[in-house]
Amino acid sequence: MDSVSTRMTRQRQVILEELCRVKTHPTADDLFMMVRRRIPNISLGTIYRNLEKLVFMQEVRRLVSAGGQMRFDGNTQPHYHIRCVKCGRVDDVVLDYDSAVDKVLANRSGYDVIEHSLEFSGVCPACRVGRESEVSH
Ligand SMILES: [Zn+2]
Ligand SMILES: [Zn+2]
Repeated sequence: MDSVSTRMTRQRQVILEELCRVKTHPTADDLFMMVRRRIPNISLGTIYRNLEKLVFMQEVRRLVSAGGQMRFDGNTQPHYHIRCVKCGRVDDVVLDYDSAVDKVLANRSGYDVIEHSLEFSGVCPACRVGRESEVSH
């Protein structure tokens, strides 16, 4: 029993380390590939279970957006994202989080505002190259 819970903790630790190492906002499948290099016998189910726990523990953010795959983020500070409409890639946006908006909304709504999220959409540099060569043909 004890060895099981210790192994769970190590798996969770490795998942968290791999997630925090990248800024690509990987899906559970991506993380499965990354973690398997270090824990070859890990299952996709174990990845999902531990991600759920990490989200619950607020060690990890889950990025959910309409029509997109669920992605995970090791950066738990509030920040904004941009998603490529062509390939689904998600990047952090170089724009400061505007906490003044939270205060304004708290005053106007009576809510205790925790944070807001903002997702831009666009065409990423890699996909833009493809599009531009299409146009010039
Ligand atoms: Zn793209
Ligand atoms: Zn992010």
